[in-house]
This record gives sequence, C-alpha cells and structure tokens, in this order.
Amino acid sequence: VTIVCVRETAPGERRVALTPEIAKKLSALGAQVLLERGAGESAYFPDAAYAGAGAVFADAPEIAVARADVLCCVQAPANDRIARMKRGALLLGLLAPHADPARVQTLLDAGVTAFALERLPRTTRAQAMDVLSSQAGMAGYKAVLLAAQLAPRYFPMLTTAAGTIRPSKVLVIGAGVAGLQAIATARRLGAQVEGFDVRPETREQIESLGGRFLDLGVSAAGEGGYARELTAQERAEQQRRLGEHLKSVDVVVTTAAVPGRPAPKIVSAAMVAGMKPGSVLVDLAAETGGNCELTRPGETFEQAGVVIAGPLDLASQGALHASEMYARNVFNFLALSLKDGALALDWDDELVARTCLAHEGRRRE
Ligand code: NAD
Repeated sequence: VTIVCVRETAPGERRVALTPEIAKKLSALGAQVLLERGAGESAYFPDAAYAGAGAVFADAPEIAVARADVLCCVQAPANDRIARMKRGALLLGLLAPHADPARVQTLLDAGVTAFALERLPRTTRAQAMDVLSSQAGMAGYKAVLLAAQLAPRYFPMLTTAAGTIRPSKVLVIGAGVAGLQAIATARRLGAQVEGFDVRPETREQIESLGGRFLDLGVSAAGEGGYARELTAQERAEQQRRLGEHLKSVDVVVTTAAVPGRPAPKIVSAAMVAGMKPGSVLVDLAAETGGNCELTRPGETFEQAGVVIAGPLDLASQGALHASEMYARNVFNFLALSLKDGALALDWDDELVARTCLAHEGRRRE
C-alpha cells in the first residue's frame, strides 16, 4: 500500500500527520510512504529525516494524493483534493464533518473510505489512537503559557528584597484532558490553582494535580464519561456562584465542551466586568464559539482592563510534539487495518466501524 501525507493547507496549521518515526514503522510493515516535499517542515521534521526512514517524495501534492491508498492528514484536505483521490482509498484525520456538509458530499462522490478520528469511541483500547486527547493536552499546556505571557502578574509567590508577591489565582473551567493539563501546567508555574467541572469525578483528578476543586453546586455527568447540557435552573445557579467567585481570580482558562454542541457559554459579559483590572481570560473553546460571551475567535483584546484571548492554534503552537503524538495515534489506528503490508478493514472492530464516516459512497452514522 502507498501511504501518503502532504502539507496541511488550513490557515495556521503547522502540524503534520506522519513523522519520520512513523514513516519508518510503516515502511517496516511493508508500506510505501509517499510525501509531498516539505510536508513536515512546519513541524520541524525535514525531508532528510523522512528519506532516512525510507519515504519517497512527489514533486506536487496532487500527484501524491492521486496515488494514495491511504491519505493521512491533520485537518481535512480541500474538497478539490479529496475529489482527486482514488475510489476506495482511505482518508484519515480530523475531518470535522459538522463544519462542512460539502466535504461529506465530496467524500461520498469520490467513493473514499473516510475515517474521522474525532469519532473514535473513547474506550480503553482506543486510548493509544485518541487524537482528541493527545492534541487537547498540548492545547491546555499552551493555553496556560499564553495566559502567563499576557498576565501583568507573576504566577508564583516570590519573596524578594522588594517585598513579597502573592501567587496568582488561576481558575480552570472544564477539567477534561485539556483542563487537567492546564491545571498541571499552572501548578508547575507556581500559581494557586482551582479547577471546576460539572462531572463530579473530576474533583479527585483536580486535587491529585495539586489544584482545589471549586464547588459551584452543579453536577451534570452525561453518557460515556462526557458532560450533558445543564438545565436552565442548574445553569443559573452555576452562573451566580461563578460570577461571585471570579471577582477574586487573576487568570481564567476555559476549556468546557459538550460533544457535538457549540461550547457552553459560561462566563458572561457581566462576570468579566466584575473581574479585577489586569485579569486574563484565555478561552480554549474559542474554536467552537467560546465559553466566554465576549470571546472573539482568533483574537486577543482588552475590555475594561481584562485581557481576553480566543486562540485557534494552540495545539499547532506545539507542532513538533503535537505531531509526534498525532502520528503515533494515526499509526495505532492504521495498524488495526494493516495485515502483512496490505489493507484489510475489519468492520467487526468497533473502532474501525464507528470511526468511519463514509464508505463506498454511503454515509455511516
Ligand atoms: P471535552 O473536551 O468534551 O470537554 C472538556 C470538559 O468540559 C469536560 O471535562 C466536561 O465535563 C467539561 N464541561 C462541559 N460542560 C461544562 C460546564 N457547563 N461547566 C464546566 N465544565 C463543563 O472532554 P475531553 O477532555 O475530551 O474528555 C472528557 C473526559 O472523557 C476525560 O476526562 C475522560 O474521563 C474521558 N476520556 C476517556 C478517554 C478514553 O478512555 N479513551 C479518552 C479521552 C477522554
């Protein structure tokens, strides 16, 4: 089989779906790895490293795409690229089917077998393939570094000849994969950290990282370890208590998400107005609309003394390690369907079946 990777074309995307490490492992399994020249450059993987791993190069991305039995990507390729793929070829990546119905139609028309990695069931066996987790970890880490950079305060407590500096109070809203990494990172920087989530089991996880669980009296565990949407009454109570609490916080990092829904609006304009001058809010949920009412996706601005950032490229900012982890996830997923150097899709495997978005011109639910 020919496994292909070309440069990502989405604006600001620096990650690459295959790394030299994984190219080598695929070659060892009998696959041919074909790359567009410079495919890994933005993530600091030079062509020479891929060549050393047994990969070969195409001069133009269109040529590589047309030869692919498997096309690996981070974000979905443009529709005119998908249309050039061979019928029956595999496409795998974060295909964001909700974001673009025309993309799904193109996949169906092209007869491509598409695996949207965000659909991977979150079971124990799937953990090694879970790109949402590996990328969320980097995003949580970078969100805190961004907050520290934007803050006019120190994070740690300092005792100096010029007197004592109190540590910053950091509140992380949403304690999933990104939120827990944010909590751990803020702790390492010496801040006083609090975490909040609607899933009660996060209390122990937050505390194990040295954070304090902020109890807002709302619990909303949903199916499959995810959160459910809050009722109007639960939301009102959460809002009231949170607004009061935010008056004492220096930095807020929001990471709350509900699968398949726009990000829940948790921090209102009124709450921001109540925050101290010099406070910072980094909204990691900006990509799905943001957890703060004021967030402008992709922008950083100041409103009444509070800096609000809605970065869209946090995982990409850590492109080298994020790609390394992403490519390992891709390899582990692909290994389910590679037998003796040939493709053999096992539709009885729930990881294969449930991740598949389109096969032989039909959309799969
Ligand atoms: P996510 O990105 O969908 O959501 C982030 C967090 O926001 C979640 O913890 C959620 O509870 C929280 N949230 C939602 N609405 C909220 C609200 N109104 N207020 C406050 N917080 C709110 O979730 P994720 O980080 O991808 O994963 C969540 C959990 O799923 C993990 O912590 C883990 O327990 C589980 N998980 C399991 C696997 C696996 O077994 N393969 C992989 C990844 C995650």
